[in-house]
Amino acid sequence: MSPRPDLGPKPHLGYTASLIDRAAHRRDEAAALAADPRAAAYLVGGELIITRRRGERGDPLFPLANALSLAPARESVLLGFLDGAPRFGLGIGKEDAEALKARDDEFLVTDLRTIAVQGLVAPEHLPPIAEAKALLAWHARHRFCANCGAATNPVEGGWKRECPSCKTEHFPRTDPVVIMLAVKGERCLLGRSARFASAMWSCLAGFVEPGENIEEAVRREVHEEAGITCGRVDYFASQPWPFPMSLMIGCHAEALTTDIRVDRAELEGARWFEREEVALMLLRRHPDGLGTPPPVAIAHHIIRAWVEGEADRFA
Ligand SMILES: [Zn+2]
Repeated sequence: MSPRPDLGPKPHLGYTASLIDRAAHRRDEAAALAADPRAAAYLVGGELIITRRRGERGDPLFPLANALSLAPARESVLLGFLDGAPRFGLGIGKEDAEALKARDDEFLVTDLRTIAVQGLVAPEHLPPIAEAKALLAWHARHRFCANCGAATNPVEGGWKRECPSCKTEHFPRTDPVVIMLAVKGERCLLGRSARFASAMWSCLAGFVEPGENIEEAVRREVHEEAGITCGRVDYFASQPWPFPMSLMIGCHAEALTTDIRVDRAELEGARWFEREEVALMLLRRHPDGLGTPPPVAIAHHIIRAWVEGEADRFA
């Protein structure tokens, strides 16, 4: 077995390690907490996050009264508390977000992926922004009762919607997605989707289906997308992925076969990569410019962990 490459210090996984105390027992106080002078809010307009320019970076946290003066809030959610100060997420209209984007000298308005990858806000803001964006996306898509069709009302700081007609309670959803690296000895299986940046290769991924556990979803997705049969599946780590409201469940899987059959509806390509080649991709030193997803994404960490020998029990 070849020596493990030195990839340097481990980067932080984006959207994780939130400093917010969610304090679920205080959610019914949301209306009163909005009057707290320490209350502050993140502003979300669809995919766009509003930040106030502070040098090269943006400050995404606005005093609540200030945030409410910038655009009408379609939805307000109580994210929790930071050092006792209430933190809210405000959903504004896309057209209002676009209007703030036009005030380019004051505001830096862009999508969350760009903010995260380019480090446009301090890292501690990413988890509460992810929380706000996912929760507000749920509200935007669940205004009517799935049981009877009546308009529903948000309650408990935005953590539930109630139907006044049939009394059904609706709770925010999180969609589980498995994202996995199939490995066999000194090689791992990477794929590329047509929507990826050019030359980027990544883990395979897919939604967990009803009646399926994580291991079964991993084996099914790898087989569907690349025709590879997997045996043992090991959980690695997970990551909230607010696009719009997923939980990425990262795994390593032991490949039992090697002949690839790519599902062209899902992937543009899939192939085996040697460990040393993947190390060069992680380090952005690949001779042909091939690369992996950035450190903000869990795929980077799953791939890196294997390169560094953390999944060698499959070798
Ligand atoms: Zn109903």
